[in-house]
Amino acid sequence: SRKIAFIGLGAMGQPMAANILRKGTELVVFDTNPARMEPLRDLGATLAASVAEAAEGAQIVITMLPATPHVEQVILGEGGVADVIAPGGIVMDMSTIAPTGTDRIAAACAARGLVFIDAPVGRLVIHAQRGESLFMVGGENDQAFEAVRPLLDKMGTTIHRCGPTGSGIRTKLVNNFMILSIAQITAEGLTLAAKLGLDIAMLKEVNAGTSGTNGQFQFNFATKVLAGDTTPGFTIDLAHKDLTLALEAANAVRIGLPAGAAAHAVLGQARAGDYAGKDFTALLDYAADLAGVAPIRLEQGA
Ligand code: NAD
Repeated sequence: SRKIAFIGLGAMGQPMAANILRKGTELVVFDTNPARMEPLRDLGATLAASVAEAAEGAQIVITMLPATPHVEQVILGEGGVADVIAPGGIVMDMSTIAPTGTDRIAAACAARGLVFIDAPVGRLVIHAQRGESLFMVGGENDQAFEAVRPLLDKMGTTIHRCGPTGSGIRTKLVNNFMILSIAQITAEGLTLAAKLGLDIAMLKEVNAGTSGTNGQFQFNFATKVLAGDTTPGFTIDLAHKDLTLALEAANAVRIGLPAGAAAHAVLGQARAGDYAGKDFTALLDYAADLAGVAPIRLEQGA
C-alpha cells in the first residue's frame, strides 16, 4: 500500500495531519518534539523516530516546518527525505519559507528524480482544525498534483494552482505581506479609537459597511485579541519571519515596501520580549501598551 509521511506537527501541521487521518488515510508522522506526535497516535498514525524512518519507502512526503533552514535540513540534510525516498517520489513542502530556499530545494529534488511541490497554507489555525484551509500550489506536473489533491481535499476547502514550481510560495508571501501590514494598521487604528474614547463595537460595525472593512478587524482580531485570546494561532515570531521574507524578496527585485517595512519594524521590536510567542493579533495589545491604553476588548455580545 501507499506510504505517506507528514513531518512537522506544530500549530498547523498537527491539525492538518489529524484531518488526513480522520478522513481515512494512513500516515507516518514525525516531529522532533515527541509530544507533538502523541495526539495523532490515537487517530491511528504510525509514529516515526526520525526523518529517515518517516520518509523511507514513502511515495509522498509532506513537510510543515517553521522556516527555511528547518525545511532544507529535513529534505536535503544528511539522512534527510531526499536521501531515503525513491525516485519518482513526491515532496510537498507546505511551510512558509524563502522563495530562494524553495527554488534550491526544488532543484535538488529534481536532480534526484523527485517531484517537488510548494503548497503553502492560507487562513488560520482554526481553519486548519476544521479542515477548511486554503492552499497555494506551485508546480505544473499534473500527475503529481492529482496524487496530492486527495490529501489537500482532506485538509482544506480551497486549492489554487498558482503556476510553476515556486509560484505557490511567492503568492503566499505577497498575501501574508498584506495580511500582516493590515493587522498592524488595524492595531494602530483601534488604539487611536480607544484613545479618542470611541466604542469599538460601534467602530467595527461602521468599518464593516465601508471599503475599509478587513478580515483582520472583522474576523481575526474579533475572535482572538478582541475576545481576550492571544494564545497562538500564528505567532508574532513567525509573522516577523514572513514579513522579513517579503522584504528580502522585494530587495531582490529592487523595490521598496515602505509601509510593510514599518510593520516589520514593529514586529521586530515586539518579538524581542514576551510577545514573540503570542498570537500576532496581540499587536493590538502591544500598540495599546505603547500608547498607555488599557487592553482593548469587545464586550461579549457587543
Ligand atoms: P510551529 O512552530 O507551531 O510548528 C513547527 C513544528 O515543526 C514544531 O512542532 C517543531 O517541533 C517541528 N520541527 C522543527 N524542526 C523539526 C525537524 N527538524 N524535524 C521535525 N519537526 C521539526 O509552526 P506552525 O504555526 O505550525 O507553522 C508551520 C509553518 O506554516 C510556518 O512556516 C508558518 O509560517 C506557516 N503557517 C502558519 C500558520 C499559522 O496560522 N500558524 C498559517 C499558515 C502558514
